Amino acid sequence: MSKRDYYEVLGVERQADQREIKKAYRRLAQKLHPDRNPGDESAAAKFQEVSEAYEVLSDESKRAAYDQFGHAGVDGQSGGFGGGAGGFGGGFGEGGFGDIFGDAFSEFFGGGRGGRRDPNAPRRGADLRYNLEISLEEAVGGTSVDIRIPRMAQCDHCHGDGAEPGSSRKTCPTCNGMGKVRMQQGFFAVEQPCPTCQGRGEIIEKPCTKCHGEGRVRETRTLSVTIPAGVDTGDRIRLTGEGEGGLNGGPAGNLFVEVTLRPHPIFRRDGTHLHCEVPVSFVDATLGTELEIPTLNGRVKLSVPPETQTGKVLRLRGKGVRSVHGGGPGDLLCHLVLETPVNLTEEQKTLLRQFQSSLEGTGDRHSPRKEGWFDSVKKFFEDLRG
Ligand SMILES: [Zn+2]
Ligand SMILES: [Zn+2]
Repeated sequence: MSKRDYYEVLGVERQADQREIKKAYRRLAQKLHPDRNPGDESAAAKFQEVSEAYEVLSDESKRAAYDQFGHAGVDGQSGGFGGGAGGFGGGFGEGGFGDIFGDAFSEFFGGGRGGRRDPNAPRRGADLRYNLEISLEEAVGGTSVDIRIPRMAQCDHCHGDGAEPGSSRKTCPTCNGMGKVRMQQGFFAVEQPCPTCQGRGEIIEKPCTKCHGEGRVRETRTLSVTIPAGVDTGDRIRLTGEGEGGLNGGPAGNLFVEVTLRPHPIFRRDGTHLHCEVPVSFVDATLGTELEIPTLNGRVKLSVPPETQTGKVLRLRGKGVRSVHGGGPGDLLCHLVLETPVNLTEEQKTLLRQFQSSLEGTGDRHSPRKEGWFDSVKKFFEDLRG
């Protein structure tokens, strides 16, 4: 199910500042709040949607991830451990990308997912995805590109610990090291992760001066990515360890560069085959001719046989492209399109009329499709009448 754009949900511009975002959220939340719309499921769903949009857009780092990667950049971050309230516990670590990359990565996400996990256990950093658009020529020949990746990286001052080097940790006074607190709500006692220590059971006495105790810092890295020859739309290049930094000493996630080919003015790619349209005049198509055709390795001659009909596909073997997975090159398929002449002079029109009358009385032997077509039309109307 595709989600609506968060900016659209809140009805704000992409450049909206926090004040505008908050204002839009307040207005919508008041209107849609379940207390005001008892039993209205559509209002409840909208309220949920608005809350989710606000949760992301009101948090600058989540908003940046959303702006860069769309929903994929923030999915699974909300509602994680710690209720998403504190950025630390909120769940940069897992989720989100697991859904996109499917079962192949379930080994990374398995186990603790969705369950209650030990907040002090090492957690692998999230995978990141980068959408890279390249030209057909770059895809076919291979290329190298520099990309800028905003990500959460392990803090080099405290090495991800969150505590200022040399300082110590102490038992959390709120939960006495339990990591959980019990809250009385009416008749019910609800157990929640401790808000003071985010469930860790201990607190840092002196947070790291560089990362303010988060263990990670936001950075933008420039990476040089080698794109192998033959890549196609949908191919992914994995850069191991270039995703988000891990938590509690866990390994970094991976960065997946997902390739998309920009549309080409001449060629359409289909695997290793290339397709192109070739306009040909009706005279050339009638008499036969030789055309110069562009390929990715220069021009080649294409022989158009006499009496060629429109839509005819001529195949140039080996003039396609090679796959990144190996094997020989595909073919170039030239789709001939017969052109009706335009801007004719009176003299040229007279010549055509003369030509037309020269065909009279010869039946349909000059129009290979006409006879069959009229037969079909006749049958069609007979069938209609029953
Ligand atoms: Zn630090
Ligand atoms: Zn605590």
